[in-house]
Amino acid sequence: MSEQPTCPLCGKRTDSLHHQIEQQLLATIRQHNPHWVDADGSCQACLEHYGKLSGEEPIV
Ligand SMILES: [Zn+2]
Repeated sequence: MSEQPTCPLCGKRTDSLHHQIEQQLLATIRQHNPHWVDADGSCQACLEHYGKLSGEEPIV
């Protein structure tokens, strides 16, 4: 039984967490998840989810 990492953002198991995240995306994720830090990483689904959010809601 292999241990899969759990995404800290959506709580789902994922094959791999991404740690190289664009600055604008980092800001958007933090807006929605104040306690999240980029060292925690994010799954691909969350990257795409927040990528869409950051496109629709530009950071001021
Ligand atoms: Zn996720």
